Amino acid sequence: MIKAKKLYLETFGCQMNVSDSEKIVTLMKGMGYGQTQEPGEADLVLLNTCSIRATAEQRMYGHLGKFKSMKKKRPELIIGVGGCVAQQEGEELLKKAPFVDLVFGTHNLHLLQKMVAGAEAGKKSVATDFLDDEKRFDLFPHAETEGGVTRFVTVMQGCDNFCAYCIVPHVRGREISRSADKVVEEVAALAAAGVTEVTLLGQNVNSYGFKEDAAPDFAELLFRVAEVDGIERLRFTTSHPKDISARLIDCFAQIPKLAPHIHLPAQSGSDEVLKRMNRGYTRADYLAKVRALEEACPGIQITGDMIVGFPGEDEAAFRETMALIEEVRYADLFSFIYSPRPGTKAAGFPDEVTRKEKQGRLELLQAAQKRITLERNQSLVGSVQRVLVEGASSSGDSLFGRTGGNRGTVLHGDLALAGRIVEVRITEGLQTLLKGEVVHA
Ligand code: SF4
Repeated sequence: MIKAKKLYLETFGCQMNVSDSEKIVTLMKGMGYGQTQEPGEADLVLLNTCSIRATAEQRMYGHLGKFKSMKKKRPELIIGVGGCVAQQEGEELLKKAPFVDLVFGTHNLHLLQKMVAGAEAGKKSVATDFLDDEKRFDLFPHAETEGGVTRFVTVMQGCDNFCAYCIVPHVRGREISRSADKVVEEVAALAAAGVTEVTLLGQNVNSYGFKEDAAPDFAELLFRVAEVDGIERLRFTTSHPKDISARLIDCFAQIPKLAPHIHLPAQSGSDEVLKRMNRGYTRADYLAKVRALEEACPGIQITGDMIVGFPGEDEAAFRETMALIEEVRYADLFSFIYSPRPGTKAAGFPDEVTRKEKQGRLELLQAAQKRITLERNQSLVGSVQRVLVEGASSSGDSLFGRTGGNRGTVLHGDLALAGRIVEVRITEGLQTLLKGEVVHA
């Protein structure tokens, strides 16, 4: 009997990498690789990496070391690295980790099968060329359409904004939008396979179609996707505050399928810092968009990202960030200490804030946000939320789903509810999730 080949895949970083990993699984399945969660039984190990912060990159190299000893014992084991670190490092990665067999960049998934076949024949390879036109999407395989309640659909890739701290334009390339017809086609295929919710994905979905004259704008794309039968809920991420238009904000009032949640990263509450970050909006602009969203969609849950300790951030600037989170009252916030990335503009900025000060600021910010998140979750107790049931909860004895506002919710019920939106009365608001009971299935 021929032994089935096994793929062990680890994904780091953002939803874009999660989406790419779904495509990798499809591609490898086409070569006879089934997936395993046990690295020890894998024939092929692939790491889909993130380089957004230095810690993520260091962690990846540390992690890679674990597979070095495996390769020593089993030289036939194939090890590949993809994603943003692979894009950034290219050939260099093979020098730093010579036991790696293949390095594939963010635009090179279409070459992966060929590269793995080469590695099976003992040949190492590196592919990190950018594809700077819409061909990028045609060459990318679609993730397999079977199964799942909720799926990502890529609508655009890359970024032209060059925020001073950000590595993304350097590792994901220039911004390109995918044709609306192809997006709708993929969503329809997912709906036909039983998917209930799609999240339209891009580095900055708000600028969808900006560069492509004939393309509709993002608001129009949302209307078209919402028309697909079988799709009950629609989300999108990520939004750049400077590009979110009045027309897009109005979609929250006009499209019932659009979930009442937006991830709108402010990054700082200080105009001075925002300017140095090259964000293209002021604190007042940001707040005006937040208020417009709340008006169009009362109760909308807003989440965000915040960087502390950006070069030149003094105490007053940090206090403005603290004040902003109290004003917006984010449902949740991803906050980080600034991490200089090679090749970005901010990497050359003088930085006088000490590590200790940065750590102190992060702790203050996170403590305040923790309180706000808990208060917001508790304020939902007694309300009825429309929860999309995703499946069994991690404990296995309940169900897990998400409210329209993207709050994780645990409820009791039959597993047959998976894939359905049910009405749930919230009975408890905890720090990281809600608990509730089904009032209408
Ligand atoms: S908008 Fe700014 S932060 Fe977002 S991906 Fe582009 S450069 Fe990075």
